[in-house]
Amino acid sequence: MPKTRHIPTRSCVSCGLKLPKGQLIRIFRNPEGPLQVDPAGEGAGRGAYLCGAASCWERGVKKGVLERGLKSPLSAADKEYLRNFYQENLQEKPQVNLQKTIPENLVGLPSGEE
Ligand SMILES: [Zn+2]
Repeated sequence: MPKTRHIPTRSCVSCGLKLPKGQLIRIFRNPEGPLQVDPAGEGAGRGAYLCGAASCWERGVKKGVLERGLKSPLSAADKEYLRNFYQENLQEKPQVNLQKTIPENLVGLPSGEE
């Protein structure tokens, strides 16, 4: 019998990307306390996974994607916590937030300017 190591995969709740468990960030709601990021993936409670993409964290926090994954609403403090976590741990270097300067209806349009 070939030796195969089964690596469990999980999906990012925002983009659906499937990755081995350790490469996604688990966020879970401790039944007794506030929302927590759980790098070891061992905390008890309902969890949801996000990949490291900024857009997924944005969507997760702002569009209620995480709330659906966790089946519980995010409080303002939870959102703040997630935003800080992302900035401190995943955003490698500070950069100008371009999205603030580009109107939403222009994002994603092919740039046809000459
Ligand atoms: Zn994602």
